[in-house]
Amino acid sequence: MNEIGLYLHFPFCVKKCAYCDFLSFPAAEDVKHIYAAAMIREIRGYAHAARDSVVTSIFLGGGTPSIMPMRALREIFKALYDSFQIAPDAEITMEMNPGTVSEAVLSFVFDYIGRVSLGVQSAVDSELKMLGRIHSFADAERSVRLLRESGVRNLNLDLMSGIPDQTVESWKETLEAAVSLKPEHISAYSLSVEEHTEFRRLQKAGRLHLPDEESEREMYRLTKELLLQSGYEQYEFSNYAREGFRCRHNMRYWKRGDYLGFGLGASSLLRSSRWHNTRNLEHYFEHSADPGQLVREMEQLDKRAEIEETMFLGLRMSDGVSDAEFTEAFGLSYRELYGEVIGRHIADGLLAEEGDRIFLTPRGVEISNVVLADYLLE
Ligand code: SF4
Repeated sequence: MNEIGLYLHFPFCVKKCAYCDFLSFPAAEDVKHIYAAAMIREIRGYAHAARDSVVTSIFLGGGTPSIMPMRALREIFKALYDSFQIAPDAEITMEMNPGTVSEAVLSFVFDYIGRVSLGVQSAVDSELKMLGRIHSFADAERSVRLLRESGVRNLNLDLMSGIPDQTVESWKETLEAAVSLKPEHISAYSLSVEEHTEFRRLQKAGRLHLPDEESEREMYRLTKELLLQSGYEQYEFSNYAREGFRCRHNMRYWKRGDYLGFGLGASSLLRSSRWHNTRNLEHYFEHSADPGQLVREMEQLDKRAEIEETMFLGLRMSDGVSDAEFTEAFGLSYRELYGEVIGRHIADGLLAEEGDRIFLTPRGVEISNVVLADYLLE
């Protein structure tokens, strides 16, 4: 039976962070209830599309799912279980902001959620303030304690390097503080300044003091070194896990597995078709019972696009790309398409080969932008 993942987008946040270009905004409580009702209509409207599939991962992202009314989330889960065949051991992840962990949230987590992803970002309060986060590091510590007491045995902490005025030393402080909380998984992303954000505005005004490139590289090296020493494996450029705790939902993205997205702006990939939902809230409210009306930028991927994505995403992972899996998916070995490039990258120490897999070496990861561009097909 085909395996599928579900992504549920909750676009609401207490306030907008200075670096954020996600589809997120503050909203009143009644809007959140209306949103949940619309999402339930959408879920029920999609049940037929995945009749022959079993759901093995669900991800509640945002925005901040933990500021939704918990009664509304319970109703959404009822619709999910009514509409889809969900594997008993499905990985169910909820993103949370450390400033929003309440009794009601903990009770919901206890009933439905196996994995929590906590947006800690930094252990340095001045950096959190700079980012515009609503929480302190003490809030994050308290949240971890409460989540553990509620039975969460699979915890991710999101961290961010490259914050304005951050130093290699302060990043080390964050990494050490995160490790001391003993999470099963750490995602360590580097800040990127996006258009239409407060940080972009400050940057244009010359008032954003980002760490220089050498410090950024040093931070990346330090992340890897410190987390490996602490018992984590790096299984993707920015993701580290204890054995057995890789994020199955994200692995699905990197392996180009099928997933359905619900909610405002949510993306889906199903049987080589990719699309995203409308980003217009009014339109979403009005048409969610007829999901076809929500679809925007539907794209039927051709074989060439699928092959390129398989290489780009696969080479982000430490496991790399398996020739047997590639051959099964596309009917030919990657050597037939990329023989010259692969040979050159191996000779240059950018790529390694083990068994039937190729993967980037540490040097290849450092200049991955350049390396991966070679896997575009003419
Ligand atoms: S909490 Fe996350 S989604 Fe919300 S504004 Fe901040 S970065 Fe964006």
